[in-house]
Amino acid sequence: MTRPDATPVASHFIDGAYAEDASGTPIPVIYPATGETVATVHAATPEILERALTSAERAQAEWALADPVERGRVLRRAADLIRARNRELSVLETLDTGKPLQETLVADATSGADALEYFGGLAADVTGTSMRFGGDWAYTIRRPLGVCAGIGAWNYPTQIACWKAAPALATGNAMVFKPSETTPLCALKVAEILIEAGLPAGLFNVVQGAGEVGAALTTDPRVAKVSLTGSVPTGRKVAAAAAGGIKHVTMELGGKSPILVFEDADLEDAVSGAINGNFYSSGQVCSNGTRVFVHESLHDAFLDRLRARLGGVVMGDPLDEATNFGPITTAAQANLVMRHIATAEAEGATVAIGGARLDRAGYWIEPTVLTGLSDDMTCVREEIFGPVMSVLTFADEDEAVERANATEFGLSAGLFTSDLARAHRVVAQLRAGTCWINQYNLTPAGMPFGGSRASGIGRENARMAMDHFTEVQTVYVGMGPVESAF
Ligand code: NDP
Repeated sequence: MTRPDATPVASHFIDGAYAEDASGTPIPVIYPATGETVATVHAATPEILERALTSAERAQAEWALADPVERGRVLRRAADLIRARNRELSVLETLDTGKPLQETLVADATSGADALEYFGGLAADVTGTSMRFGGDWAYTIRRPLGVCAGIGAWNYPTQIACWKAAPALATGNAMVFKPSETTPLCALKVAEILIEAGLPAGLFNVVQGAGEVGAALTTDPRVAKVSLTGSVPTGRKVAAAAAGGIKHVTMELGGKSPILVFEDADLEDAVSGAINGNFYSSGQVCSNGTRVFVHESLHDAFLDRLRARLGGVVMGDPLDEATNFGPITTAAQANLVMRHIATAEAEGATVAIGGARLDRAGYWIEPTVLTGLSDDMTCVREEIFGPVMSVLTFADEDEAVERANATEFGLSAGLFTSDLARAHRVVAQLRAGTCWINQYNLTPAGMPFGGSRASGIGRENARMAMDHFTEVQTVYVGMGPVESAF
């Protein structure tokens, strides 16, 4: 299949237009399916960052005063444009990440459009409260924070850019967004479309670069908030750096989430949930349920069905819509995943399904299922961020809950059961920010998404994301004479 051209107009998008400074470090954009370089961008130089921050600061001052109905209209127009250009954007997402087009057509630009539409609809509904104190009273105003930095991971470059930009812009902020250096292309298109939709220049700027560009944004005094999607170690660094400036943060970090399959579960649904929660996007999903605890009575049947269903995996050209499983996004990540599989075997695990790296160009690893595990093994404790499912067994509900919670992470959790009382009883005990009952990994724009404990702070999506991009200003109104002691 002919590969479309992925070359962007320029590396950055600043103040309403593409911008270049070729003196920045070159960053090759590698198509993970073949390992070929499909474009090159340049890391932001201090001059580029300065232009991005200056224009954002200038534009935000006016945007904060704009009619929120107009702010919402711009976002909703952008959503329409994204939907109209879904195929083109999905192809770009596939080239940027390697994810199959079958997936990107339904999960990436479309979910970005959902967020823009959702927050566009809510933009005019940012309200305060009022309270009486005898004759006096007070009221609150929700004010935008100012210039916010968005820093993205590589797995969902369009979605992450939109999920951060939409609530930030709806509430009157500007955003300077730094994509992952491995997937720099899609956010540029989001910026281009926002301008086409009528967003004033400077409000959504994209700057490229590695961690140091994110770090420079995080510590710049003009940045009021940092919203990061990334790993826990990066989250610790970014939150600590932001704390130095007493900045707001949203941290969407990694996980090692559990899926509990009880003895009364619908087996086919549970297998589907485990497949979606481990192998979608070749396992590169933060909320994946990579510790699958299956009731001991179902273990063999579960594995049999899993093996049969994984027979339907098609690892072909990601641009061919028949392909339903793509490569890992980077060579380094593919090597890490293979090291995890080797470590698991060395620690006594059984590779029940898959486990091999394909002998072809690019970064292809089979969907892999590990069994014969104990909770202290590395593959059960650490986030792998690849297509590796660990299947464990349990005997009763209390044991399942205790083991599910025995992790520093707390991003997500899922459970499959036909007993609704049990479902709610168990969910109430699970220490995870986002839980699914008889479903897994669905994240509609109207639902808060985020982690607890080491998996993060704050929530994306839903109305509460707008709280995280605003702060309350309280106004006390004196209605009578001012009393004083002297
Ligand atoms: P990383 O933590 O490596 O990087 C995330 C982003 O932070 C990248 O843009 C990276 O730049 C940047 N960065 C790195 N160091 C710093 C720093 N010191 N200051 C500021 N920015 C920095 O994550 P990955 O890109 O490897 O993504 C995978 C991780 O993201 C997984 O742990 C996954 O679970 C998590 N994730 C969480 C999600 C959630 O919503 N909870 C969703 C998706 C992924 P660069 O990479 O360009 O060097």
